[in-house]
Amino acid sequence: MQTVAGDCAKTNLLSFDAAALTQWVADIGQKPFRARQLLKWLHQRTATDFEGMTDLAKEFRAQLESLACIQTLPILRDHLSADGTRKWLLDAGQANAIETVFIPEDDRGTLCISSQAGCTVACRFCSTGHQGFARNLTTDEIIGQLHMANRLLDQPVTNVVMMGMGEPLLNFDALVPALRLMLDDNAYGLSRRRVTVSTSGVVPMMDRLAQACPVALAVSLHAPDDALRNDLVPINKKYPLADLMAACRRYLQVAPRDFITFEYVMLDGVNDQPEQAWALIELVRRHDVYCKFNLIPFNPFPQSGLRSSPRSTIRQFATLLSDAGIVTTIRKTRGDDIDAACGQLAGDITDKTQIRQRLSEQAAARPTDQPIAFRRRAP
Ligand code: SAH
Ligand code: SF4
Repeated sequence: MQTVAGDCAKTNLLSFDAAALTQWVADIGQKPFRARQLLKWLHQRTATDFEGMTDLAKEFRAQLESLACIQTLPILRDHLSADGTRKWLLDAGQANAIETVFIPEDDRGTLCISSQAGCTVACRFCSTGHQGFARNLTTDEIIGQLHMANRLLDQPVTNVVMMGMGEPLLNFDALVPALRLMLDDNAYGLSRRRVTVSTSGVVPMMDRLAQACPVALAVSLHAPDDALRNDLVPINKKYPLADLMAACRRYLQVAPRDFITFEYVMLDGVNDQPEQAWALIELVRRHDVYCKFNLIPFNPFPQSGLRSSPRSTIRQFATLLSDAGIVTTIRKTRGDDIDAACGQLAGDITDKTQIRQRLSEQAAARPTDQPIAFRRRAP
């Protein structure tokens, strides 16, 4: 097993969903109910060591000490935005970093989780896409982000969105056990609708997700026709719009009372014209996909060469969709002052020399995964 989450050469228990943990516990000669107890300690109580697990038999605890560890990725930085958004930069090894963002709202607390260090899809408007791809995260590194957040926050995470760095459906085998833990009553106990996987449209994996773990699905659409989508979201050349829409329909057959959320980043003069709103309406009607639209103001970054649509254009576009009977929201931009908004994730780590230097400076001084810097940036 890959143990990038620090230097633990033992088995990281965060890499197991309930079934795999039960198997592991059986393999070391213990009864299934022990696995349940352990699962609760690991995820409900976000334990980081075995010492405190006082209701486990001493001999079992000794076994755990010798064979296993509980590790999450070390924290490089911990930022708090003026609006309460909190962003962690995590050390994924070999000068790679990933980010996790917590967005508090009145009635919920949403955690935005990364699935890969970098991304192979290379969408034009995404800073992660511009960084290239380093590696897939492991299950323990994915679920570890939720473990860390619940441990460090003083309010619970009520919703998870797989909208951080990376394309979750291109890391399917590591993703699914993490999703199962999010839903497991003995772990995080989130309902299926409070866990959202966002995809650029990896069609075969959408079908597999429907079978394995049909959580809420968001699809990054961004264009109403293949020519424009090929340019903005290159994976469209492999899975064009007709295939993508058919996959959305199939997904909804498994979860009939659900809807697909189409994400649409608003790019000035590129995809924000009224004809494009009409084309979108026609597209979802033709394919009969029950959906909502979430319009995302573009978060610019220097290398993109793109601009965000003016506020008034975004509102007009939203009105056209709403008037056609499609529920449409405009995403609030949060955490602007700490670059925690969509597509800005890890924007400050593109210079790997800088991160290497930062890592070596900090490594010696850091005894645990305590925040290295915790600061409010001046507005
Ligand atoms: N790879 C997945 C999930 C991560 S990206 C996906 O593409 O769906 C999460 C969302 O942020 C996607 O809808 C993506 O299109 C959007 N996004 C990426 N870069 C952005 C930017 N610079 N401004 C606004 N939204 C962006
Ligand atoms: Fe990857 Fe999503 Fe960014 Fe596209 S938008 S490059 S799929 S992370």
